[in-house]
Amino acid sequence: METVIERMRDGIEEAGMRRAGEILRRGGLVAFPTETVYGLGADALDEKASGKIYQAKGRPSDNPLIVHIADWEAIGKIAAEIPPGAKLLADAFWPGPLTMILKKSDAVPLATTGGLDTVAVRLPSHPVARALIRAGGGYVAAPSANTSGRPSPTTAEHVAQDMDGVIDMIIDGGSVEIGLESTIVDLTEGTPTILRPGYISREMLEGVVGRVEVDHALLSEDVNIRPKAPGMRYRHYAPRAQLVIVEGEQQRVRQRINELAAANAAEGRSTGVIGTQESRGCYANALVKSIGSRQDESSIARHLYGILREFDDSEVSVIYSESFDTPQLGQAIMNRLIKAAGHQIISV
Ligand code: AMP
Ligand code: MG
Repeated sequence: METVIERMRDGIEEAGMRRAGEILRRGGLVAFPTETVYGLGADALDEKASGKIYQAKGRPSDNPLIVHIADWEAIGKIAAEIPPGAKLLADAFWPGPLTMILKKSDAVPLATTGGLDTVAVRLPSHPVARALIRAGGGYVAAPSANTSGRPSPTTAEHVAQDMDGVIDMIIDGGSVEIGLESTIVDLTEGTPTILRPGYISREMLEGVVGRVEVDHALLSEDVNIRPKAPGMRYRHYAPRAQLVIVEGEQQRVRQRINELAAANAAEGRSTGVIGTQESRGCYANALVKSIGSRQDESSIARHLYGILREFDDSEVSVIYSESFDTPQLGQAIMNRLIKAAGHQIISV
């Protein structure tokens, strides 16, 4: 299949958007930018179309898709019940990087929800995403547009690395703004519960709906506790090289990473380091990449997946990463980084 690239970095291009909408309406696949990461879209109400997403990504069929809408009113068709908290959260955070789990209506095929009787819904803020959802009929199922297990794409080039020749179209909207997937909050039972941390923090949610819990599995090192979001059960974002997080006081972290890099060099093994603008000059014997600045945590979030992909193109055999427990985004950043590292952490 030839994958058409539509360039919309400087705004929506009407003719291209019409073609994209037609592809979705006849059951095809279009990758598109959102404010979080690039999504791989299909008509969410067409089970054959959403089935193609699983195939293109190599995604396990029990890992449900998020349904993207462009207007609050659209929610009535896909949710069987709309709890009061959903309206409050939508007023506060939609359009934006928040996904809500609700009881699904019969309009949503089980192929889209991985067999569950609940549906994940998000109303993104990216203008290209919203125009595409409208052009495609109003309901677009879209997981991240990467091959399953690879880092989520934050540029159209990343999407092409994984999806060229596999899907009908990629809309190139340039680099995304946030770089981490949406916060997922479950509103189907009692207290709202965070199933995946993201840009919208627990404190922000609690400011709107009162007490919010976090899925116990996210806080525990015990691999026998199953996360409630099926997708959080799979190993994710793994770079090809071994990835190890080094955490602790910053000076000692730098020192330990330098010792490890020197030992690797003596054995003829090449090392990568994920540092920051502030620390990048402090390392030797390694290929050092700066993820962003500790003065600007959003820069760290935005570059995380791109850096993991860049290391996949290099020859390093082990990567050491600093730890980024920043105020608002730290939980979301470390959730992704720890998964990418397969829980390998050295504390100094
Ligand atoms: P992605 O679209 O790649 O960001 O992944 C979507 C995430 O949402 C995965 O972790 C899914 O398991 C999760 N998800 C989607 N629908 C549901 C649902 N109905 N209940 C719980 N988790 C869901
Ligand atoms: Mg994903």
